Amino acid sequence: MSQITTLRLLINHSPPIFSPLFFKPRNLHLPIRRFSLLTTFSSLPKKQTNLQSSPAKPLKYKSRYKSSLAEKKKGEEGAKMAETESSGFNKRRAMGKDKDDKPKNLQLKVRKLNPVNTICYVQILGTGMDTQDTSPSVLLFFDKQRFIFNAGEGLQRYCTEHRIKLSKIDHIFLSRVCSETAGGLPGLLLTLAGIGEEGICVNMWGPSNLKQLVAAMKAFIPNAAMVHTHSFGPLHGPDEIAVSDLSKFSGPILLISDEVVKLSAILLQPNEDKESINNESETSIKPRDLSVVYICELPEIQGKFDPERAKALGLRAGPKYRELQQGKSVKSDHRDIMVHPTDVMDPPIPGPIVLLVDCPTASHLQNLLSVDFLNKFYTDFSGNLSENTRAVACVIHLSPSSVASSPAYQNWMKRFGDAQHIMAGHERKNAEIPVLKSSAKIAARLNYLCPRFFPAPGFWSLDTDNISLNSTFSTKDPQTTIAAENLLKFNLRPYANLGLDRSSVPAYTGPAQVLDDLRAEIPEIDNTVQQVRQLWNSPVEVNGEMSLENNNSVVEEPWFDELGLPSCLQDITREDMEIVLLGTGSSQPSKYRNVSSIFINLFSKGSLLFDCGEGTLGQLKRRFGVEGADNAVRNLRCIWISHIHADHHTGLARILALRRDLLKGVPHEPLLVVGPGQLMRFLNAYQKLEELDMQFLDCRHTTQASWDAFASSLNSDQGSSSPTNFGINVDSTLFIKGSPMQSYWKRPSSPVGNAASMERLSHLGKVLQDAGLETLISFPVVHCPQAFGIVLKAGDRINNVGEVIPGWKVVYSGDTRPCQELIEASHGATVLIHEATFEDALMDEAVARNHSTTKEAIEVGEAAGVYRIILTHFSQRYPKIPVFEDAHMHNTCIGFDMMSINMADLPVLPRILPHLRLLFRTEMGVDEADDLLPEAVSAAS
Ligand SMILES: [Zn+2]
Ligand SMILES: [Zn+2]
Repeated sequence: MSQITTLRLLINHSPPIFSPLFFKPRNLHLPIRRFSLLTTFSSLPKKQTNLQSSPAKPLKYKSRYKSSLAEKKKGEEGAKMAETESSGFNKRRAMGKDKDDKPKNLQLKVRKLNPVNTICYVQILGTGMDTQDTSPSVLLFFDKQRFIFNAGEGLQRYCTEHRIKLSKIDHIFLSRVCSETAGGLPGLLLTLAGIGEEGICVNMWGPSNLKQLVAAMKAFIPNAAMVHTHSFGPLHGPDEIAVSDLSKFSGPILLISDEVVKLSAILLQPNEDKESINNESETSIKPRDLSVVYICELPEIQGKFDPERAKALGLRAGPKYRELQQGKSVKSDHRDIMVHPTDVMDPPIPGPIVLLVDCPTASHLQNLLSVDFLNKFYTDFSGNLSENTRAVACVIHLSPSSVASSPAYQNWMKRFGDAQHIMAGHERKNAEIPVLKSSAKIAARLNYLCPRFFPAPGFWSLDTDNISLNSTFSTKDPQTTIAAENLLKFNLRPYANLGLDRSSVPAYTGPAQVLDDLRAEIPEIDNTVQQVRQLWNSPVEVNGEMSLENNNSVVEEPWFDELGLPSCLQDITREDMEIVLLGTGSSQPSKYRNVSSIFINLFSKGSLLFDCGEGTLGQLKRRFGVEGADNAVRNLRCIWISHIHADHHTGLARILALRRDLLKGVPHEPLLVVGPGQLMRFLNAYQKLEELDMQFLDCRHTTQASWDAFASSLNSDQGSSSPTNFGINVDSTLFIKGSPMQSYWKRPSSPVGNAASMERLSHLGKVLQDAGLETLISFPVVHCPQAFGIVLKAGDRINNVGEVIPGWKVVYSGDTRPCQELIEASHGATVLIHEATFEDALMDEAVARNHSTTKEAIEVGEAAGVYRIILTHFSQRYPKIPVFEDAHMHNTCIGFDMMSINMADLPVLPRILPHLRLLFRTEMGVDEADDLLPEAVSAAS
């Protein structure tokens, strides 16, 4: 049966198609074991496999945590365990009562300011500078205060990489409010809220639409984390038309004025004239979108006290010297005169002024050019300062190059005389040095070892060392205008150092250097590369050169037996499907692992995303390059989100916003987002801020029962309802009537609740059909309210001798305890992607947090008779490679960020693992406690 026919049947509700979870595997000789829920949940018996005799030793890892912390955790876990069912899941957490601790009283930090700052600078935090997925941030640094301007996706990860302490940030300012400038806020707020006993929150500042972002984030962030939100500018009515006159805000709005800085904002709004708006068709900026110019003024520096002059005026050295320096006049000791501060001190030096300019469109530019308040910073047309002009030391331009390179903008820049201009809009120049060097280094090493599973990254790869270094921005005056670079500073204090400071800018080290280092560190690496290549050449015969542990397993493994190969892999091409792991860490992005996202690449048939944690777009760009990622986003068919924890969905808005921009002017349908109900609340609220061009479908409406109901409603003439047995008759006590779980997981009696859902399910059916897929089914798992797993199954295909080849079946667990639903759904799957947050020794923690251990994940896969298991969602306590036992890994592989698993390579998959481990041989025991805050592991994930 061809795929098209199959799908048409699906739309036409042919009953047999609706039980794909129980499709009978043809030619699939995998043992389907009887599975008892109890054995999964209680301590599991040692598996009796031939591999037990493998000489491989379990890995030993040095604990990265101090004992005091371990003890503290033990105590906490004890309390949590009291809430835990003996059956092995945390009921409280599963019912949504995660915050079982007393509510935190999130505090703003109180700092004693140092009016005589010794060090002060502005610095470019090049978040997204290489990948161009987000706007860079700017740090304004004082001895005792830190300000950050813009918080795009990946800011947290960036700060971890560059050892910038998030807990020291006092204020975050947004130059605009959209996914590009604020995508990192939710993750940042959650992390700050999780720091220490009480948690901390931060002041947030932005134009009035910041309110809409905050309203949206309430769907998953505690209010307390956002109480210090300050928005300014015109209020918007429900129809988003400004209800107060913007002209009232034409002057500067004073935001902060203390001993160390005066910070004010000027709002820019695009000119409303029709012509200029129409010309903005290529941008995503709405006419009423506000952007902000921030003006930071440092207080003037007192002139130097001259003791000689004081002496000459008859003063004795002593307390009067200090009084004069404090601005008081004193009586001379030896003469009958008053001595004034100006008599004995040099004239004060004006404090440096820094401007941050975000002018997103040409239409905003018209507004910028007419702002009166800026007149006092302009020189005359010959470039001279007039008497009343206040010289600006540095202007940081966040405006995109398309605007900043226009003649009008360039002329405007000249009006600042000798000011240093730093162009921080996206610059191609910055692609040469990866902003996240640590993960880029690992990606390059993995690529060298095994290019099949780790294809050359989108940039900074061993293959493409010749990236164009030309900046898209060119200037005739390089003295005062430069392109921003990651960590470039402009010093403001001490005054003697005023000016650019490149000392922190990372030096260029190319991928070739990574390779040299790798060879020096692991001399046998080239030999291993050869062995890895052999895996594809002659998978069965490989011996001799393989390591000992593999010699044993090669003989025993049934997977290379022709009969053992799942029939769906027969004659499979490399253009059928590939699973790209974009993020394999839990909780929050870390140096080496970003948070959850799986890219299902169907090649010419488009792609899907399972989960979409913060930074997913950046990861796509790292994998496919800037243009490749744009294509991937353009060709997305559907995004599926497992549950509402921030590590699974906060990258969604950025992807949707980019897709909207890429498809502007191209006929297209809104993108289907399938997710838990709470996500819809967030998206609906968020769309008041920024149009996302999406259509939401609740996971509860994509269950097997929903598909069945949908089919029978289409078939109502016959009055028959398709039989459904998915998940209902399962011998599980978790979801039965009257159980605690039932209270939030209301099994829908009418699974497709309303006409809109029905229509969207129909849309989904069509989307699947176009992508050559047969089914996409969500099923409930045990983690938090409305947590789901997913089954994706390809349509059948016909091979070259006319036989029907069944489609592959991929199952993703989302976050979960091992559960019967998941096992049922995974029956006969080609691939099960299963979370394995904790190592086996941390069973208690896995239960308390409703996650799985490595061994449990593998047990689920084996119970369901799946062909290959891919483990992911590792606790960030395992920064590079998690703890696992070789003996269990015979059909399993550990996931790494950017790992790309082509269906055609599945047979080889488990055998790559021992080789991968070689890369981490010298690094596994390294104590990297400072890479990660202990709090990181406790955030909801
Ligand atoms: Zn998670
Ligand atoms: Zn979670």
